[in-house]
Amino acid sequence: MNISLKSSRLPGWHRHSAAIRGRKVSDWLGAGKGTQLDSLWAGGLSIRAAERLVENVVGIFGLPFSVAPNFIVNGRELLVPMVIEEPSVVAAAANAARIARFGGGFQVSASEPVMICQVQLFANDLEKARIQVEENEAELLSVAAASDKTLLRFGGGPLSLEVRTITNDQGQAEFLVLHLHVCVVDAMGANSVNSMGEALVPHLEKITAGKVGLRILTNLADQRLVTARVSLPVSSLAMRDYVAEEVSAGIVSASRFAELDPYRATTHNKGIMNGVDAVLLATGNDWRAVEAGAHAFAAQAGTYRPLCTWELDRQDLLRGQLRMPMAVGIVGGATQVHPSARLALDIMGVKKANELACIAAAVGMANNLAALRALATEGIQKGHMRLHERSRDLIADSKKID
Ligand code: NAD
Repeated sequence: MNISLKSSRLPGWHRHSAAIRGRKVSDWLGAGKGTQLDSLWAGGLSIRAAERLVENVVGIFGLPFSVAPNFIVNGRELLVPMVIEEPSVVAAAANAARIARFGGGFQVSASEPVMICQVQLFANDLEKARIQVEENEAELLSVAAASDKTLLRFGGGPLSLEVRTITNDQGQAEFLVLHLHVCVVDAMGANSVNSMGEALVPHLEKITAGKVGLRILTNLADQRLVTARVSLPVSSLAMRDYVAEEVSAGIVSASRFAELDPYRATTHNKGIMNGVDAVLLATGNDWRAVEAGAHAFAAQAGTYRPLCTWELDRQDLLRGQLRMPMAVGIVGGATQVHPSARLALDIMGVKKANELACIAAAVGMANNLAALRALATEGIQKGHMRLHERSRDLIADSKKID
């Protein structure tokens, strides 16, 4: 069944039991695939698979695998898998996604999936070494390309070389850093570009008579950005005891606070990463890599800035924009080894890494909208504490069992 023909708007989703929600997700997945959901009830990962992922395994650590309804991203109806231990994040995402539907959902674009490998180069004459690298760019690119023929087959590979001179506090040049820009297609790309960086070592040292130092990707993936937008009628933002205009003005004011104060911007961005990380965990992606990139990008202008901002347009539209690096893959790493990660990609019908990047950005934006809406009105604790109560009940229950 074509996923885009179905609506992800599922009123009362949170009131169903996990079993019924699971059955509905099976229906959503369509014939044959629904049975994969059974594996989630057994923890989603066998010891054998765990041992293929990491070292020294002695067991499996479970986390809830939730599904947030209501999302529309680039016109597609989506159920979004989220894995997270913190109460209220999934509920907040689903609620904000419901509101975003009044504006047609989230519009998200992703740049080409370009990652950067850094290769550090020491030489006696740095200016001469820079010229030698620039003159031999084509040869260096073909050496890098030869180290990952599979990537070339999928349409990726090295694109260009940039040479930077790194100076110390006194302004003296200390070493060069080559930035190898690589299109990694559907991979997160860390291993791909690290291999390319290492393959360059003998050629670089020969060409420049220099010495190569570190060669590894940068997680400041500023060539691999997502931009998410949403435009909401102010009228869609009304809450129990608050008129819509009051709520939207509060959201804009909260956004301004984050723009002007790094202490606030840090927590603002943490709320965005609540949503982003939950999607990355569900899909077996390296969330630490995306976290590192997000915060470095937020500070790139010299002060720490919010990744998502909100403003009023003509008093009747609330417009949000999120921009951040999003280095995610649907091949490589744990994405295909972890059965639950494969299932998560299936639930979203994701076929390209950039599609996943767009969805993760939309969820981050949804969580930001939900947090600011709550903070600008009744505060965040009311909903949070209600859900925390459930965790406390659980602890009490487990003590009784012990
Ligand atoms: P990978 O090497 O497992 O998979 C990527 C490879 O898959 C490509 O090089 C290519 O040969 C092949 N491939 C097949 N189909 C492809 C397609 N459609 N598009 C692109 N490539 C395709 O993984 P990776 O994505 O290079 O690296 C991700 C892993 O590296 C993650 O597990 C991450 O945790 C880890 N890692 C991260 C860092 C960091 O972020 N600093 C450092 C080291 C390792």
